[in-house]
Amino acid sequence: VVKQVQATVSRYRLLKHGDYIGVAVSGGKDSLTLLHILHQISPPHGSELVALTVDEGIAGYRDEALRLVEAFTARLKIPLVVVSYQELYGFTLDAGLKWRRPRKVSACSICGVLRRRALDVAAERAGVDVVAKAFNLDDMAQSFLMNLLAGDLKRIRWLDPALQKAEGFRARTIKPLVEVYEEEVALYAYLNRIPFQEEDCPYRGESIRSEVRAFLNSLEARHPGIKHILFKTAIKVARNLAVEPVETGRCERCGYPSTQPVCQTCRALTLVEVNRSQ
Ligand code: SF4
Repeated sequence: VVKQVQATVSRYRLLKHGDYIGVAVSGGKDSLTLLHILHQISPPHGSELVALTVDEGIAGYRDEALRLVEAFTARLKIPLVVVSYQELYGFTLDAGLKWRRPRKVSACSICGVLRRRALDVAAERAGVDVVAKAFNLDDMAQSFLMNLLAGDLKRIRWLDPALQKAEGFRARTIKPLVEVYEEEVALYAYLNRIPFQEEDCPYRGESIRSEVRAFLNSLEARHPGIKHILFKTAIKVARNLAVEPVETGRCERCGYPSTQPVCQTCRALTLVEVNRSQ
């Protein structure tokens, strides 16, 4: 697994010498494994690490994950920056989801957008050059299929591991686990005795991703290697897409870089319809 990650880092030129690397760490097996591996392979790159964690405010779930992250980063002597929804948005995810309108909007479609912003804020606070995300081969294959189903070509472009920098942002985003199967990540975590949160987020089942995951797992069981083929196909498609470049401006509400007049985060916050007096 470590050799595979090193090969991915070198094939897609993910790290530059001396990069200050923020590792997005949730407390699950993927992100703690990524931290463990980068801790081993980053010294030759002259790089230092900081862990970046988002506390969404999910009672009975995120609290345990935070404890695991704190203990693991202390063990590896890696500093930790935590940003919470409560601090950024003034509410926890549990509270926000009770207020969401319309009700059928899935938790992940709101939370995913709010998480991305929270991670950007954590990266800015830490002053990192690059944010490493624990996006594995299974995640990649699922995202490709989901974006195809949604006809979202722009997002398919972003599946190319070589494309790292979004306009307006200081830090690049890299995905060093993108060629490692989720099962291999789990095995790595067990063999290296990495304590991770095994429980799934209570809201995960609301997302179409769960159905796509089950579908791909059943295909992979009958046709081993199909996820890897999808990964290669995604890169080919991404590199051959004639997507018009979109101009990045600033969100008129929050001032963050955005390709739309109102950014995704502000639109997600509108769906939550926060009623602070409740
Ligand atoms: S699974 Fe969905 S709701 Fe849960 S933390 Fe992830 S994005 Fe948020």
